[in-house]
Amino acid sequence: MTDTVPDTLNIIPLGGMGEIGKNMTAYEYGGKIVVVDCGLAFPRDEMLGIDLVLPDITFLREHKDDVLAFVITHGHEDHFGALPYVLREISAPVYASRLTLAFAKSKLDEHGLLRSVEAVEVTEDSVLDLDPFTVRFCAVTHSVPDALAIVIETPVGRVVHSGDYKFDHTPIDGRTTDVNKLAQLGQEGVLALLSDSTNIESEGSTGSESQVGQAFHRIFAEAEGRVLMACFSSHIHRIQQAVQIASLHGRKFAVSGRSMVKNVNIAQNGTSSLQSAINDVQSSLSAVSKSAKSEFKPQVDALRSSLDSLKTSVQNVSANGLASVEQAARSVESSATALENSAKSKQCS
Ligand SMILES: [Zn+2]
Repeated sequence: MTDTVPDTLNIIPLGGMGEIGKNMTAYEYGGKIVVVDCGLAFPRDEMLGIDLVLPDITFLREHKDDVLAFVITHGHEDHFGALPYVLREISAPVYASRLTLAFAKSKLDEHGLLRSVEAVEVTEDSVLDLDPFTVRFCAVTHSVPDALAIVIETPVGRVVHSGDYKFDHTPIDGRTTDVNKLAQLGQEGVLALLSDSTNIESEGSTGSESQVGQAFHRIFAEAEGRVLMACFSSHIHRIQQAVQIASLHGRKFAVSGRSMVKNVNIAQNGTSSLQSAINDVQSSLSAVSKSAKSEFKPQVDALRSSLDSLKTSVQNVSANGLASVEQAARSVESSATALENSAKSKQCS
């Protein structure tokens, strides 16, 4: 049995320290464990006959009943790819943002594990009560959308686990690293910061993802024939830029490769399911407006038009960012409340 020190926060790296890949860190206090990330590594040249490299989970095996959760920072395989192998032995819910969870679920589905795993979607505003831990989140930019830093409140202090990040002030989705939240956490006090950023030892800064689009414009305009582009299949922002700019230049876009096709589908489904939900609300609203009394017409019309703008902003989410969708959603909410209030006041009178 691997012993931990009592009444102490034990931070136990199970992989990913001083190496690339298989990121996994266990946080233990009072016999309870929260695991951040569950990644795999791809074999190096000398690892002949090896398909995947998994983190050493002996510590988790020995404490399997005390694992409260797996919290995943972002949708790169070196941060979630070992889930199907680890969850076979250790059963605990998985918490991640929408896109990260969609990638993870697709991987679990390939292994026939989707139904047996509790997968919970979180946002940067979520708070998880995992006694003795409270887990919160902070938006960060990275080369895959929807990345989160994890903030773990423990009885002895707060730990900030950044996940992979970069500071991109003009990301494609408008979702920047929440430096205000990070600054506030810093002011309130942080016991430990575990931070991971590629090339952190090199001087200077990495360019913004939106600069890549400028290069695409130039290349797509000048190239006489076909343009071949390669990138990581999780690099949804880059693929999105290529699709949009190709279309602006009257070019057709095709994806090739299993992961590429799969991930593009996953990213598209994110908004297409929202669009079909809005369509459903719109059609039930038309039914309501036919049967409703004419005195509610102004409120119904207001709700209709705010739904229309929500739909437009969802369609253009890649261009305008999530903030515009949130704003449109808030306006739908307030028109719905107005309709509800006027219906209630009619009932009372
Ligand atoms: Zn990453």
